[in-house]
Amino acid sequence: MLKTLVELWGVSGYEKQVSDYIVEQVKDYADEIVRDAIGNLIVLKKGNGENKKRIMAAAHMDEIGLSIVKITNEGFLKVKQMGGVSAHCSFMNRVIFRNGVVGTVAAYAKPEDYKSNQIDKLYIDIGASSKEEAEKLVSVGDCAMFEGPYQELAGRNVMAKAFDDRSACYIQIEALKKMGTPYHDVYFVFTVQEEVGLRGSTTAAERVKPDLGIAVDITGSFDVPGDEHGNAVLGKGAAIKVNDASVICDEDMVNQMIECAKQHNVAYQLDVLAGGGTDAGAINKSNQGVKAVGISIPTRYGHSPNSIINLDDVQACIDLLSYYAQSPLKIVTEEIF
Ligand SMILES: [Zn+2]
Repeated sequence: MLKTLVELWGVSGYEKQVSDYIVEQVKDYADEIVRDAIGNLIVLKKGNGENKKRIMAAAHMDEIGLSIVKITNEGFLKVKQMGGVSAHCSFMNRVIFRNGVVGTVAAYAKPEDYKSNQIDKLYIDIGASSKEEAEKLVSVGDCAMFEGPYQELAGRNVMAKAFDDRSACYIQIEALKKMGTPYHDVYFVFTVQEEVGLRGSTTAAERVKPDLGIAVDITGSFDVPGDEHGNAVLGKGAAIKVNDASVICDEDMVNQMIECAKQHNVAYQLDVLAGGGTDAGAINKSNQGVKAVGISIPTRYGHSPNSIINLDDVQACIDLLSYYAQSPLKIVTEEIF
């Protein structure tokens, strides 16, 4: 299922293929499934606790890509980015449009001459020799995703595009299946448009009105040459988020997560990310303030077509999410003095 999930087509704003697939996976395990107006999939597992509250777990369905801004007279496609696309990572990679048209990303200037992330120097070559020929295949506004098939590597490592954040979609699906009846109501939300500014989680949080938000998303893996400014590494377990650039996680809820991991012998590590953000940031700032935490999957080469994660880490994230979300967590939402 992880392989299928990462290989599905789902650039930000166009997540329907992913969403439809997830509905099939969760429909026998959910008490209620709603797709809202902008495409978020909200999957409820009802709790039976006496003083139950609402927990919202969030994993985003969308992936980064490129969108056509103009088709040149010669049949080349000028593009803009959908989400955090790196011009360097994009250069000479294959992309595929939703209708199956394939091309390669080329550039007007040599990548080594880029001053910054100049996406406007990129174009897609689909082999067309004129605007008319290209327009028979694609239109302005069409989006392309990067190709990066699922591949097993050494050890328990696997490589593909879009582990950000389909690995987390997988984790939420498996956690839902594994979970008994939770204490609190647990909303597994599969969000849209995270990569373009946490948009799906912003609106979903307004609907769910959670007392606790849990973002499930990738983090960096700081175990590669020259990149050691972080703590999480491949193969050391679920990464419990302490903070990133979008959120400072609730201290009490983080501590309860650490205790939960210890109690159930789930391998864990701590995640502090200098840059980047997740749906936790949007949930945290919704509804006059919501406690937020995160479970992160250490990932090498995120936002590239060839990201690498570890399957034991994925299993640890499934275990941690299911144990944590089903337990009678103490969630203090308000204190009146
Ligand atoms: Zn992500």
